[in-house]
Amino acid sequence: MKKHNYSAGPCILPQEVFQKSAAAILDFNGSGLSILEISHRSKDFIAVMEQARALALDLLGLTGKGYQALFLHGGASLEFLMTPYNLMTKAGKAAYLETGTWAAGAIKEAKAFGETVVVASSKDQNFSYIPKDYTVPTDADYFHCTSNNTIFGTQMKTFPNTGIPMVCDMSSDIFSRQMDFSKFDLIYAGAQKNMGPAGVTLVVVKESILGKTGRQIPNMLNLQQHIEKESMYNTPPVFAVYTSLLTLQWLKNLGGIAAIEQINNAKAELLYNEIDRNPLFKGTAVNEDRSVMNATFVLADESHAPVFDEMWKAAGISGLTGHRSVGGYRASMYNALPLESVQVLVDVMREFEQKVS
Ligand code: PMP
Repeated sequence: MKKHNYSAGPCILPQEVFQKSAAAILDFNGSGLSILEISHRSKDFIAVMEQARALALDLLGLTGKGYQALFLHGGASLEFLMTPYNLMTKAGKAAYLETGTWAAGAIKEAKAFGETVVVASSKDQNFSYIPKDYTVPTDADYFHCTSNNTIFGTQMKTFPNTGIPMVCDMSSDIFSRQMDFSKFDLIYAGAQKNMGPAGVTLVVVKESILGKTGRQIPNMLNLQQHIEKESMYNTPPVFAVYTSLLTLQWLKNLGGIAAIEQINNAKAELLYNEIDRNPLFKGTAVNEDRSVMNATFVLADESHAPVFDEMWKAAGISGLTGHRSVGGYRASMYNALPLESVQVLVDVMREFEQKVS
């Protein structure tokens, strides 16, 4: 039976990426060797790393603008810590926008380094909206925000002009929508949504902001070190980088971010229209801040849950359960999820309405 994978991450990747990466496990580039058994210093893998780094910048429109792309270990969670390590001056401070659990995790790490100002928080309403009116202190070393809040289904549609370095955790919406990425000085994202399998993190950094903290930074946590070593300071996660390259190539062939954005908007519109039309469902995020990637919703009457759950499972849908901290449902519609899968979910929601009304 065809599966419709709404998993929040790790998540669906393009079928052709699964096929190509599976083939490379058996025979990489016709070498007679598996991608899993070759040296990361081999000519073939160095080419993979170089292409992946260049293509990431290309897709983001950042080629030739003083940025470096790195493929590192440790997930977005390690970037919570590497950000203040690399950017917060010894006597300085940082400014953060608290829009969800992951933003809170980043704030927690920054506090261990120095003064951390939370400019605004939507915690008062269980992170169901994005705070709008706030002031970012101009004497902070950087401003940190989270573009898409995977758990709560909210997404920043605009970003403030701060005059200070801008850092953004784009784990769950990178490569999904057009933006002026040059507005940001440091972008990071765990691969396991729109870019590839778990195990690698994309870090895109404007080189000129580094080297100003006066801190002694351990090599593995030092972005400058990773740049100097061309993202091979130590053994990189070879297979995850290769699969990320395949996914980025798939996106490029499709027409890049501009093309996928249209498809993503169509998917989100289809689902949100049904959530709003169908009296048995309620969206949990404030309309204007709704995420195009993760749609969060609940049943108007919780007692119907067993019927609805049985119906979507029977339709081949998987991964629709909301995050354990909020409950309800979450439909993650990352780049590789086809529009047809969203139609299947919408059809189930309509049938459910007929069944219980
Ligand atoms: N930030 C965001 C927005 C996320 O969605 C996640 C994980 N889903 C993380 C950070 C943490 O990422 P990781 O597990 O790669 O450390």
